[in-house]
Amino acid sequence: MTMKIGIIGAGLSGLTSALALAKNGHYVEVFHKESEPGGLIGSFDFEGCRLEHFYHFLCAGDDGYFDLCEELGLKAHLRFARARTGFFYEGRSYPLSTPIDLLRFDAVPWMQRLRFGLFALEARWRNEWRQLDAIAAKPWLIDRIGLRAYEVIWEPLLSLKFGAFHEHISAAWVWHRLHRVARSKNRMGYLEGGSQRLVDALLNQLRRHKVSLHLERPVAKILTDEGGRQTVGLRFDAGGDFACDHVVSTVPLPVLADLLPEGWDDYAGQLRKIQYIGVVCVVFKLKRSVSPYFWYNVNDARAPFNGIIEYTNLVPPDASGGHIVYVPYYVPVDHPIYRMSDEAVVRQSWEGLQQVQPRLRDQDVLARHVARAPYAQAICPTGFLNMMPEHQSPLEGLYLLDSTFLYPEDRTQSGHILRARACAEALTP
Ligand SMILES: Cc1cc2nc3c(=O)[nH]c(=O)nc-3n(C[C@H](O)[C@H](O)[C@H](O)COP(=O)(O)OP(=O)(O)OC[C@H]3O[C@@H](n4cnc5c(N)ncnc54)[C@H](O)[C@@H]3O)c2cc1C
Repeated sequence: MTMKIGIIGAGLSGLTSALALAKNGHYVEVFHKESEPGGLIGSFDFEGCRLEHFYHFLCAGDDGYFDLCEELGLKAHLRFARARTGFFYEGRSYPLSTPIDLLRFDAVPWMQRLRFGLFALEARWRNEWRQLDAIAAKPWLIDRIGLRAYEVIWEPLLSLKFGAFHEHISAAWVWHRLHRVARSKNRMGYLEGGSQRLVDALLNQLRRHKVSLHLERPVAKILTDEGGRQTVGLRFDAGGDFACDHVVSTVPLPVLADLLPEGWDDYAGQLRKIQYIGVVCVVFKLKRSVSPYFWYNVNDARAPFNGIIEYTNLVPPDASGGHIVYVPYYVPVDHPIYRMSDEAVVRQSWEGLQQVQPRLRDQDVLARHVARAPYAQAICPTGFLNMMPEHQSPLEGLYLLDSTFLYPEDRTQSGHILRARACAEALTP
């Protein structure tokens, strides 16, 4: 039976689930708030090249992503390369990609270096994680690798991702992060042409399958039948309704809470309990490279950030016309950095980069750009397993997709694709 389905949001989850549902024979329309599709994988024109607002890399186990590329005929554009990791610690630069690098990392006592190496090896092979959900990452890491190794290596990594919330993060999340990267063996992947190529291919397929995409059409409310138990459609900010049998929401859970109809306050309260952190991401196009590292962790009191992602140390710089360097700040939306003007956050990032690489001169900057996302990452404290809602909401006909459901995985494109496809299967009786 053909069903009529409305999808909220045209990011990767919305576009992928729309395609899977349309291929299963359903009638699908997608409603998106912004003027361009893509959401967090969206791109912008960076002085002559299309670039993603936020850095994206792939790991060897990202099968959902590879399968989608295969389906869209993009597999020939997937590339994997060695991605070096470095560490800038108190004014000194250290390579940190190989076991030998780790053994030479003298900012940490040698015994703790050894423990760190063994711990990373164990995380790579370990698969059982449920008992780690109840344990906070900080004491777990200190117990396993030692206090100094935690303070020097892990604390900046966790602060990079979770800012002031990093002490609450569960050990399960940390385990999966290590597990995913360690299994990739220092090789990271990317799609030639970036996410824009993926979005374009998805849009082409959606057109072929007669899916309508409505841009700048934010959803204001989910509509229900008279009894208030069954979803019957969507209402838009600009007025007008769309009647449908099912709704797939791909917006962050607190945003969804505001779209719920009257009478669903308890459920909305449950969704609002999941907290998110925002991100401000500054990207520079430079004449010269900052370091040889793709991922450069920074633990230095003079630098205002905890890491630098030099994208062109993974993706060759030919297409971008310069060295592309991302400087992310994961902060809550009420944090002063989130509210800082673009000019001020660019200035502080540039001064920080010059601390890390004193050879950089002002004339090396070819272009700069600032992007913000209020819901960059769900915060996964201990006990997160019990906080996660079900994909299929108690409001009949409403299905939820969000990075929360990937736990203990980090939010990955691959994970979102797998979930979006599973949603299409679940909605097909
Ligand atoms: C800084 C950063 C770095 C990342 N790095 C990586 C990486 O290296 N590798 C990797 O695999 N993944 C990475 N990711 C994760 C990846 O980008 C996301 O997991 C993925 O893009 C999520 O897609 P989505 O469609 O679920 O959500 P979104 O992209 O957030 O899409 C949801 C869309 O819904 C729209 N919307 C909101 N409210 C409404 C409304 N009322 N009506 C209609 N539309 C609405 C929003 O505008 C948004 O575009 C990164 C993310 C960030 C932020």
